[in-house]
Amino acid sequence: MINYMQKNTLDNLFSETLKILKDLISFKTISGENNLEFIDYCEKKLKPLGASVVKTHNKDKIQANLFSTIGNDNGKGIILSGHTDVVPATLSDWTYDPFIARDKDNKIFGRGACDMKGFIACTLAAAPLFASQKLNSPIHFSYTFDEETGCLGAPLVLKDLKKRNIKASACIIGEPTSMKVITANKGYNEYITHFTGLSGHASNPNSGVNAIECAIEYSNKLLELRNELRRIGNEKIFSPEYTTLQIGKISGGIGANVIADQCSLEWEVRPINKKDSDFVNKSIEKFTSDILLPKIKKNNPKGSIDKVIIGEVVGFDKEESSYAANLVCNLIGDNSKNTMPFGTEAGLFQNAGISTVICGPGSIEQAHTIDEYITYDQLKNCLKMLISLQKKMVQ
Ligand SMILES: [Zn+2]
Repeated sequence: MINYMQKNTLDNLFSETLKILKDLISFKTISGENNLEFIDYCEKKLKPLGASVVKTHNKDKIQANLFSTIGNDNGKGIILSGHTDVVPATLSDWTYDPFIARDKDNKIFGRGACDMKGFIACTLAAAPLFASQKLNSPIHFSYTFDEETGCLGAPLVLKDLKKRNIKASACIIGEPTSMKVITANKGYNEYITHFTGLSGHASNPNSGVNAIECAIEYSNKLLELRNELRRIGNEKIFSPEYTTLQIGKISGGIGANVIADQCSLEWEVRPINKKDSDFVNKSIEKFTSDILLPKIKKNNPKGSIDKVIIGEVVGFDKEESSYAANLVCNLIGDNSKNTMPFGTEAGLFQNAGISTVICGPGSIEQAHTIDEYITYDQLKNCLKMLISLQKKMVQ
């Protein structure tokens, strides 16, 4: 039961969370774009509490990760981890401006409300609580860039932690799970394959190399691989229980009467294990070098097929006895453990030797959607978890 003091704390933290969340939604942190204002905002919240702040930047310094610590490091800290980027939102599709938070029916609407600025707002609102008493282990805040486009920021954070020799006993990734504990997720690989042929008049097909036709043959091979993955997959903890492969975008060509010299395919794989990921890469590369490329080169020695890796994010594997999962089950008073069919940063933290769990406010049903929202209840449940965590850390 929540006593009066706790309720008081919860109410205070909740109104602060709403304020912060509205601010966070106003930063247009679409993946690939500048997130420095967002990071500055978080830094200004954390630094006055005596927290240390380390930022790691992307190459052209327009994006940053923030890693902040309250308390003295003893190698047993807990990391609260969220990504700062959001997927794009088209103004005309939304009922209201996606980057101006709207507070209605006990919900906050706005791009990123549930994925995952709601969680970051909760952690920033709770930070003063963690700073108010001496903690027996530190609490870390990790806010990364470009999670949605292949987890480009998190590896820089992990590299920095390794360099500074900072270890942690658990990492809680606050992706929207409706505050359920998630202990495994599939990997996420994203690719673009560029085909270069030779332009020519359509009346004489032999005068050129049709890049679109190459892309179609390549696509057919991918679909063949997809069927094979479906046939061999039987990882019962996931739904669907096999590795999925999808072609999401095809672009190229000028018009019906011109042989297309350029085409590109954007495609993705969500592997249930590393073996499937390797299988796809090896098979498509072999098909390219043994069959498709020689065919292109016959008419145009300069023709090419380039497969570019946008991101290859390792899956998050279920551990038999996970410290992080048990900790969060204990905090939220729910022992059920689930899995998710999409990629997160969890596998990266896990591979760095940190016990990891995914649990955060908001429903995945609303993530990436038009008129995305998060409910008051979900934010409150997340705050309750953080309050319990703080209590555990001062005992
Ligand atoms: Zn997310």
